[in-house]
Amino acid sequence: MIQREAAPVFEASVPVLIVGAGAAGLTAALAAAGQGAEVWVLERDAVPRGSTSLSAGLVPAAGTRFQAANGITDEAALFAADIQAKAKHRADPRIVATVSREAAGTIGWLADAHGLPFSLVHDFDYPGHSRRRMHGLPSRSGQELVDRLRAAAEAAGVTILTEARVERLIAEGDAIRGVVAVRPDGSEERLGCRALVLACCGYGGDPALVRAHIPQLAGALYFGHPGNTGDAIRWGEALGARLADMSGHQGHGSVAEPGGILVTWAVIMEGGFQVNAAGCRFWNEAQGYSEAAQAVLAQPGGIAWDIFDARVAGIARQFEDFANAERAGLIVTASDADELAARLKLPALAATLAEVEALKRAGARDAFGRDWAGSAPLAPPYCAVRVTGALFHTQGGLAVDGAARVLRADGAPLPNLFAAGGAARGVSGPEASGYLSGNGLLTAVVLGRLAGEGAARLA
Ligand SMILES: Cc1cc2nc3c(=O)[nH]c(=O)nc-3n(C[C@H](O)[C@H](O)[C@H](O)COP(=O)(O)OP(=O)(O)OC[C@H]3O[C@@H](n4cnc5c(N)ncnc54)[C@H](O)[C@@H]3O)c2cc1C
Repeated sequence: MIQREAAPVFEASVPVLIVGAGAAGLTAALAAAGQGAEVWVLERDAVPRGSTSLSAGLVPAAGTRFQAANGITDEAALFAADIQAKAKHRADPRIVATVSREAAGTIGWLADAHGLPFSLVHDFDYPGHSRRRMHGLPSRSGQELVDRLRAAAEAAGVTILTEARVERLIAEGDAIRGVVAVRPDGSEERLGCRALVLACCGYGGDPALVRAHIPQLAGALYFGHPGNTGDAIRWGEALGARLADMSGHQGHGSVAEPGGILVTWAVIMEGGFQVNAAGCRFWNEAQGYSEAAQAVLAQPGGIAWDIFDARVAGIARQFEDFANAERAGLIVTASDADELAARLKLPALAATLAEVEALKRAGARDAFGRDWAGSAPLAPPYCAVRVTGALFHTQGGLAVDGAARVLRADGAPLPNLFAAGGAARGVSGPEASGYLSGNGLLTAVVLGRLAGEGAARLA
């Protein structure tokens, strides 16, 4: 894993090497190239995709011009407070302060310097965000985000070596001197660097690590990129780096089953709710989709149904995934509550629906603690989709400082090692419930930018 060599020799050397070509790695590459450094990105897949391509590509930021254009005032301190409120104040305050302060500038830089056409998701609220601050590209897909970042990186002169899986780091003392990358034919390449950025995400693709750190989701569907197998964590550990918040993760309790297509949580936040196989509600859905994974998996068969209506479906349709779920015939529709209950074979559903609508009319709080005041009513035709819980990505990782430098167990930074995105400790604390929407891409693009700038300065 870590190969220790004195005065190592390499086939080629560049100032900045980056492992992983997802949002974190490509943003780091753009930032390093912007400082004039020569940059190579090493990516194990034939085409850069990562978990980034599986996401909705939404990045939260406070105080952007895109918010201002929608009449929204927001600021970093409010954003930081929202992140910490969701994480029950257990997220690293230094990283929270850094990412909430730097996010607006990062979105503006990607838009202005690299032509990424961000716009604000202005028509619904994400739980826990006290302002509308999600920024996305036209298709609202992570695929578009990673494709546009890659095109921008290539335009900026970054070399992206695909089918190059980094297997070992070469270190001399505490300093990283280079890496060994393995090609599909088994051949190895030794590449030297002056600074290394780990952007190879977390450990969701390694069942043994998931079992060790997130036992409650052991065996659950992993919805992230299978190539994210915890390499950064293993290398960091072997180098004496500190790991933090290892049990933290983003789950999701609304993945269509069968079909495996993400159904946006907007269907719940816009007035929908979840029922189990008995047709009954079982928790306060307003807590968030991340903790929904455990709540749904704890139901009989690990299954639930999202219940909503045609108005809500209209909002959800802006997400390609939802439109795909509709095209795949996964969204059940019915002209009234009895027909929906009959089609889903959930006799108690009609009464549950009536109860929820009565709570909305009364502006009351239910027994699970969900406050229905101001929630829009559901009206026929009704919609439903059968869902399960899944692990999306892990939020624990290498402890870093405000400049994305990897920290040793004693708190001192390693001399030339940086980490960003899923490879680094996130801002969600140690629990699934600490994940605020957008925390994943927030640390990918913001720490990615800072890591790239820092690596270029050092190199
Ligand atoms: C379905 C889904 C929806 C999501 N929606 C959102 C959202 O809307 N907003 C949000 O903020 N977050 C979201 N997330 C989380 C978000 O996708 C991640 O937090 C983010 O993509 C992490 O970026 P990254 O660059 O660190 O990792 P990735 O995008 O996964 O990139 C890591 C790359 O490293 C490569 N790699 C791994 N190991 C090696 C190695 N040894 N050598 C070479 N290459 C290697 C991988 O192949 C991969 O391409 C979602 C996640 C999922 C799964």
